[in-house]
Order: sequence, then structure tokens, then C-alpha cells
Amino acid sequence: MLTLSGRVIRIAEEATDKQKLLTPRRQFSLSTNPALPLPLRGERAYLSRSGRPVPLGFAHYFAFNERPEDLADETPCTLLSDEFAYLADGDVIGLTGDGRIRALFRADSDHNSILLTEQCNNYCLMCSQPPKKVDDRWLLDEAMETVRLIPRNTRSLGITGGEPTLFGDGFIDLLQHIKNWLPRTSLHILSNGRTFADVTFAKRYAAVQHSDVMVGIPVYSADPARHDYVVQAEGAFDETIRGILNLKRLNQKVEIRVVLHKQTYEGLPALAEFIARNLLFVDHVALMGLEMTGFTRANLDSLWIDPADYKAELSKAVKVLRSYGIKTSVYNHQLCLVNADVEPEYVKSISDWKNEYAPECESCTRRTECGGFFSSGILHGYSKSLRAFT
Ligand code: SF4
Repeated sequence: MLTLSGRVIRIAEEATDKQKLLTPRRQFSLSTNPALPLPLRGERAYLSRSGRPVPLGFAHYFAFNERPEDLADETPCTLLSDEFAYLADGDVIGLTGDGRIRALFRADSDHNSILLTEQCNNYCLMCSQPPKKVDDRWLLDEAMETVRLIPRNTRSLGITGGEPTLFGDGFIDLLQHIKNWLPRTSLHILSNGRTFADVTFAKRYAAVQHSDVMVGIPVYSADPARHDYVVQAEGAFDETIRGILNLKRLNQKVEIRVVLHKQTYEGLPALAEFIARNLLFVDHVALMGLEMTGFTRANLDSLWIDPADYKAELSKAVKVLRSYGIKTSVYNHQLCLVNADVEPEYVKSISDWKNEYAPECESCTRRTECGGFFSSGILHGYSKSLRAFT
């Protein structure tokens, strides 16, 4: 698993106490290209690897463990530990005045997401990013700057939270900004959909006219009370469904996401019927395995079920959705823990930076087709039914 955030070994000398207060957070686009034209260097930071000469003219320098000898004393250089050795050309990092670093964008990954806020109006039992009641508008400002630094040829980008739409106009402004800076980038937004129940907001969203954006919205049950229980918010089901209907009325792309666990698996076939009969026009349905992180760890007894024990419900749901022609994907599952009839919809999906395999997988002949596990799932135990394909 990659370390996406941590502390630097030593912050650049320019970060004096006064500057720490003035510039508590900065973002850098990294370059490893010593031949980058001079006019472009002033906006970028050079990532130095040991033993190579350091080119002049970059705004900032990052090096591993020790300062490059050929760098002039007055040149700002921040030292990183080897756990950040994966950083590469085109990556974007955030650096705080007190020496915390976060990888905000990795150019060689197709799994980049911008965390827009930790605030949320749901409180899901299995939330992987537990909500905080804090004013974190600085994340929105950071997102604006990150977008400006992301390479223009980026294929896809995600927006997550918390609930990103809680920023209202700020969220719409970010969408417009992404459309302007990254017009060819496919955008995926994770939202609980409730804000879109406000038709005025839904219209403002649609008015951005982004050509390739989809909102992924969780629906956990066809039974409103069960959905509201899972998201720990009364009335959430009605708002979410109204949000989906508003978005589709405005010709916006919507994906329905269902996380499978002890509270949702029994109702899965009925939910598939509900979607097929009432929301046939959605663009995609994602049936997703549980990630053992955030609130899931605290609520493990009420959530964990061995995926081998809901194979039948998963197969039934996929069959219903397929028969209605709804594009469906099974995410975050292990190939040996789903029935063969689900394989056409099976997707190797776990983000590269948090993906691992169990010792049993070593001899598996289908490992390259299998998504494996979230690293957190490996740590907290996994199915006893795991069987390597031979
Ligand atoms: S044994 Fe491991 S690699 Fe093979 S299908 Fe199962 S989880 Fe995937």
C-alpha cells in the first residue's frame, strides 16, 4: 500500500515561522525533467533523485533523505523519506508549513480522486471517510489549485467526500473550473444525491454542461426505512431518489452504487427489481464489496458477512439487472468468491494504491483477472472460502 500522506524529513529553509503563517499550505506540480524549458520551471518543483545533477530555475526542490550537493544554499529544498519514492513526473503534492505532505494526484494512476470535504449529511454505518463537523473550505480552495496543476491529458478524475455538494455554489464553481482546465477528462462524482432533490441546484449542476461527468449515488435498499438506517439519516431515501429523478430529467448521467454487507445483502434482489422498474434510465449500477476501513471497523459485527455467503443474492441481482439491459458492474470482489454467472459483470476495481493479495493467491492461475483485496481487508481477516484457481 502506498503512503499518500505523512511528514517530510526536513522542510525547506524558506519556511520560516512567519512564512508558515502566511502560507500554511502550498501545492506543487513535480517535474523530473532536467530539460524542461526555463520559462516552465518557475511554476514547478523539481524532484531530485540522488546522483543526478540538479537543473536550475525551479520554484522548489524535493530530494530524498539528503540535500543535493550541487544545490545552492539559498535554494528551497524539502527532504522526503523513501516511502515517497513512488512520486514521479506530473504528480501533484500538497505541503503544509509544519511539514506534512500529501500526494494529491499521481500522473501514472487511473484512480485519482480529489477529497473535497469531510462534512456529510449522512452518517453511513460503513463510511470509509467518517464525517467531521468542521469548516474545511480550505479543501475546496486546494481542489481549485490542484485542478490547475493536473496534466491536461489526464483521462479520469474523481470527486469524493464527505458530501461534495454541501459546498453548493463552491461545488458548481469547481465543476466549471474542471471543465475549463481539463476539458478532455472524464469526471466521476461520489454524492449521496440528496442535494439534487433541490431542482434549482440540479439545474445549476446541469447548466455547467460538462460533456463527460457522472454522479455515483448510493441506494442501499428498496425499503426506505432500511436505506435510512444504513445511512443513519431519516428521510434520506426520499431525497436521494428525488435527486436521481431530477438529474435524469435534466439528462445527467447517474450511477447507482450499492455496498454489500449484512444489512443490505438480503434485500439485494428486491433492490435490483426496484431499480429495474423505477430507475431503468440510470446509466450504471455498481454492486460493491465492503471496505474494512473507517466506520466499518467500529461496526464490523453488524456489517461483515463473508462474500461467499451472499453469492446467490449477488447472482440473482445481476441476472435481474442484466435482463432489463441495465449496465452493471461488480466491484471490489474476489473472483473465487462470486458465482461464474457474475463474471461478465465482474470488474477488477480496487484502487492501485490500496490493493493487495492474500498468501493463498500466490498460486492462483487467475490472479491477473482478480481485483484482490483492499489492504485493510487483508489486515482484518477475509473469507475462509478463498480458493486459488488451478
Ligand atoms: S485466490 Fe486470490 S487471486 Fe485467486 S481468485 Fe481468489 S482472491 Fe483472487
